[in-house]
Amino acid sequence: MPDVPDSPAIAAQEEGPDAQTSGPIVVLIEDERPIRRFLRASLTGQGYRLVEAATGGEGLAEAARRQPDIVILDLGLPDIDGLDVIRRLREWTAVPIIVLSARGQERDKIAALDAGADDYVSKPFGVGELLARMRVVLRHAARNSTETAESTFCVGDLHVDLALRRITIAGSEVHLTPIEYRLLTMLIRYAGKVVTQQQLLKEIWGPQSTEQAHYLRVYVAQLRRKLEADPARPRYLLTEPGVGYRLTSE
Ligand code: CA
Repeated sequence: MPDVPDSPAIAAQEEGPDAQTSGPIVVLIEDERPIRRFLRASLTGQGYRLVEAATGGEGLAEAARRQPDIVILDLGLPDIDGLDVIRRLREWTAVPIIVLSARGQERDKIAALDAGADDYVSKPFGVGELLARMRVVLRHAARNSTETAESTFCVGDLHVDLALRRITIAGSEVHLTPIEYRLLTMLIRYAGKVVTQQQLLKEIWGPQSTEQAHYLRVYVAQLRRKLEADPARPRYLLTEPGVGYRLTSE
């Protein structure tokens, strides 16, 4: 048999993720080459092993083949709708999915979160923001796999002891109403990740209340008055405009 030169696919595999480090594997599904190039430089520099896919079909195949630690997914793909990519991944894997979506398309972000995405960053995005989101979803995934829910949550001056139901800000105790407490503990469960208004309303007030966004605004305002030094410029309980809320985790 004559010598057969390495096919491009095999060459790519040899130089690819496995050859580099032992960092988390990221499958990036994005049709825009400049964004892939930019992320390749940034993510490999941080020790991630990057597998690139330019279409939804390729992305699904790579996700199945590589068993990645994170999927980063552009919603606007040439072959399959990004939302369908999320749904198809969720048929068999709980891998964290971070969506890249255009700024201002809140409906798309909410649809992606409802379809099973873990979080999103809005294009154009800073790589620092994306890396922070990636750390959050990896932490959540690690915690879920060991099933050791932590009984305390601390960020900045905010300290919450979930076992004792005790909340302090810089050492002084804060008293919450039962609904304020449920709102805070749900945000703690997803700390660092966005939680949609619908998810919060459904969990706290029940499935019949998902249209009652004003409930949420009232209780978020109350919580901020109790937790934030400047409720108009919150440090902990952040608004994700048009989508929901995020409790900062770092
Ligand atoms: Ca695109």
